[in-house]
Amino acid sequence: MGPVLESLVKLQDVENQLKGTRARLSRTKRVVTLQENQLRSLVNSLEEKQHEIKLLRAEIDSQNLELKSRDSSLEKYREALNLAKNNKEYAAILTEINLNKADNSKIENKMLELMKAVEEQEASCAEIEKQIQAQQAKVDEVKNDSKDKISEIEKKIEEIELEWKAASKGIPAEILLLFQRLSDTYDGEAIAGVDRNNPRRKVYTCSGCYMTLTNEAVNKLLTTDEVFQCPSCSRIVVLDESFEH
Ligand SMILES: [Zn+2]
Repeated sequence: MGPVLESLVKLQDVENQLKGTRARLSRTKRVVTLQENQLRSLVNSLEEKQHEIKLLRAEIDSQNLELKSRDSSLEKYREALNLAKNNKEYAAILTEINLNKADNSKIENKMLELMKAVEEQEASCAEIEKQIQAQQAKVDEVKNDSKDKISEIEKKIEEIELEWKAASKGIPAEILLLFQRLSDTYDGEAIAGVDRNNPRRKVYTCSGCYMTLTNEAVNKLLTTDEVFQCPSCSRIVVLDESFEH
């Protein structure tokens, strides 16, 4: 293997470390995010319930106003009752009074229901507030636990990035670009090896996509330092030491 291919193999090794460490970082951060999301959803449901209580209270207020205005008209009917000129008029006013009373008791029942609903919502608010407190404590704990871990991983990533730069030196710019493009496409695996499925029959396949590689291609890899890409998956193909004897 020539110097360019050797550098690419080394770079692939550093690339793998980088990918793995970055994945570790996002896993560690995700643990915190998960707990934060749970906290946020609790806070949201508390706000929803508080809004519902507000609406219920507004409804109670409006029913209360309605009741007061009905009380004052009842008062007027009662005064009218005292001034009734005859039996017929008296009976008519009395009917009105009774109808009004029936309506009032309906409103009163409705208000009782609304108040009961407010109490229920308040109880569940108190419950959610407790859960929020517990969840906040959990968020703080997880954040604290992962703080050191995250900064340690971030430091490690910086180190590996420096190694990556060092390893990429000596690789021509266009080949480096190709490597990066392939790495993006194949989740970090820009380079594939050659598998010998049946040494006696000399059948070679790309370890990335398992497609057959020609003897010609393998010979070229054995004798030159040129970058060869698998015709099927485009990965840069290299031979391991077992080919060099
Ligand atoms: Zn391939």
